[in-house]
Amino acid sequence: MLMPDGGRAASAIVPPLFRELRVLAGNYWWSWQRDGTEVFRGISPTRWEASGHNPRRLLDETPPARLTELDTDPQYRARAQSLLARFTEAMQARAPWAERLQPHISPERPVAYFSAEFAVHESLPIYAGGLGVLAADHLKSASDLGLPLVAVGLLYRQGYFLQDLDRSAWQHERYVDVDRAALPIERVVGSDGTPITVTLMIHHRAVRVSVWRVRVGRVPLYLLDTNRDDNEERDRWITGHLYGGNQDTRIGQELTLGIGGVRALRALGLTPAIFHMNEGHSAFLTLELLREELAAGAPLAEARARVRSQCVFTTHTPVTAGHDVFGVELMDTHLAAYWPELGLPRDEMLSFGRRRPEDAWEPFGMTPLAIRFARAVNGVSRRHGEVCREMWHDLWPERTPATVPIRHVTNGIHVPTWSAPVARALFDRHLGTGWEERLDDPDLPAKVDAIPDEELWELRNQLRRHLVAAVRAYARATRVRNAEDAEFIAAADALLDPEVLTIGFARRIAIYKRLSLLVRDSRRMLRLLTDPERPIQLVLAGKAHPFDNEAKHILQELARLQQPIERLGRVVYLENYNLALARWLVQGCDVWLNLPRRPLEASGTSGQKVVANGGLNVSVLDGWWVEGARADNGWTVGDHVTDGNPDTQDAADAEALYHVLESEVVPLFYTRDTRGIPVGWLTRVRASIKSLLPFFNTHRMLREYTERVYLDSDRG
Ligand SMILES: *Cc1c(COP(=O)(O)O)cnc(C)c1O
Repeated sequence: MLMPDGGRAASAIVPPLFRELRVLAGNYWWSWQRDGTEVFRGISPTRWEASGHNPRRLLDETPPARLTELDTDPQYRARAQSLLARFTEAMQARAPWAERLQPHISPERPVAYFSAEFAVHESLPIYAGGLGVLAADHLKSASDLGLPLVAVGLLYRQGYFLQDLDRSAWQHERYVDVDRAALPIERVVGSDGTPITVTLMIHHRAVRVSVWRVRVGRVPLYLLDTNRDDNEERDRWITGHLYGGNQDTRIGQELTLGIGGVRALRALGLTPAIFHMNEGHSAFLTLELLREELAAGAPLAEARARVRSQCVFTTHTPVTAGHDVFGVELMDTHLAAYWPELGLPRDEMLSFGRRRPEDAWEPFGMTPLAIRFARAVNGVSRRHGEVCREMWHDLWPERTPATVPIRHVTNGIHVPTWSAPVARALFDRHLGTGWEERLDDPDLPAKVDAIPDEELWELRNQLRRHLVAAVRAYARATRVRNAEDAEFIAAADALLDPEVLTIGFARRIAIYKRLSLLVRDSRRMLRLLTDPERPIQLVLAGKAHPFDNEAKHILQELARLQQPIERLGRVVYLENYNLALARWLVQGCDVWLNLPRRPLEASGTSGQKVVANGGLNVSVLDGWWVEGARADNGWTVGDHVTDGNPDTQDAADAEALYHVLESEVVPLFYTRDTRGIPVGWLTRVRASIKSLLPFFNTHRMLREYTERVYLDSDRG
């Protein structure tokens, strides 16, 4: 098949097999399939790394002679063809529950899922962290399960920043243009063959927006982009950076996502049954839907009711800074040309974004706007649901907090994305192929119990070895790039020990996530790290927000922990946390730490990723762990009690953390039977898989969204 963009692979000398693979490279479906990565990496491991794991780029840059050579390799051909055959089949498969969705949701009336970030794959840098991972995992499960869904996001010119740490471990941010031409994306064209462009008024200017498509299995992800020659320079930067820029840029982005997003769907001829706002960033979409209703002649009350019947909203954080608010002046300047279009008085409009509609001084909040116009609102864990009902109580002054109509759907992870190939192979043998689709199988516990100790332990050892090798190669490459001295570069090959209990902590470096607990008593932590018989090692990663100096200081404190034991290589901090690093870490670590200040972790998902790889959680009782924790499936740090003083709370939780590591985690890991196997440890691993995997996954989550939120069957 010829690609419309006329890439090199379309030329006649490329064997047909690779033209088919180039089509496959244009759909991220490959990224969560068995052998998906290997079929592309097998073309050239070095080019694969150099391409940033982008198979489209890899194929365009590989000399045709290499492709011709592989084309005659029967083993390679068989693997590639099997992958291609599965692709064709997957794109056509029918959803087992499609019938039940009719007539509410159908390909003609899909769910439209809006998010400011999507972490589909490391080669598509339009994400920052957990919100993006959750959004992308939602799309992947929608594709696997055949839920008709389209997604809308933004294509950032420079993505999120790249992180450089200097010698003092101070973070610097670096921004580079994304090579758009190399991405597996395509301009969306209308029925007449010309590219679709939508226009909206921001400030007093008409801003034109291009629409791109990314294929995520059967789900199209439409990305909006203002970086066009026919826009003014400042407007070209509206979609410049994810979570960068000032409030002007932010409101411009959110107008583009919300209003531009609805217009793009209309230009595509789509009539979504449901608009799902994943976080408040896209909430301006409600105004655009209201404008459509008013323009069609509906009176305001009816127009509002109709918008409400189509919108649902998921809120993701109790942290105040996570809820965008825009000052009245900013609203006035940026929406000046939109009010008249909308056809509502300015004050009426502004009241939609306030907790107290009549308070003319209150800034405009995206969360109140989303809540007012959504027929269903949910938090992302049971605990977070409770927190939300308190937090947004004043929007329902006549109710008690317990009866505030905000529910919860607990987050999950897309298991095929996060489970390592070797783990999937082990589960294939013992749980039966297709186990990812049957995680709620009542026989799953018995099958997990039947996995022999030797095989389960070998899985853990293999994954830990992979991680150690990957960390060494990564550290070496970083040191070479930074032109470090030869000795320091060589030392990268001695980082970590594949036999040592490996503990991971990687996520955004935000204060409430309390990476700082690790260094609160650095002497005690050093004792754990340097124990001659039973040491631990720490692998850490995460970016601090560019404006968050307090978080940057924590990175420096960690570096101080590292210095006295530099030679041992038992504390490694990896720059530029991204999806590829996240995969190694959640797959290779024996223990995953989660230490938020309660109740600020709405859910957290990274701990769920380790479960599918036989890792164990050590976590504070917050977010998902409140629902997941049992006495036998991991460890809990501290208890439910929160004392109002953050400092004494931190001290108590740090004490609890060191205590659980010293008295339970370390001894259990190093207690081996005559075969050298930590049988007690494996019992816990089995309990973790059996009790957590069936629930904390996005297939369960998506079914719950569909039944309770999209179809709203809770309310009859
Ligand atoms: C899973 C993931 C996160 C989210 O981690 P939390 O524990 O929910 O904070 C952030 N960043 C990346 C790259 C991830 O893969």
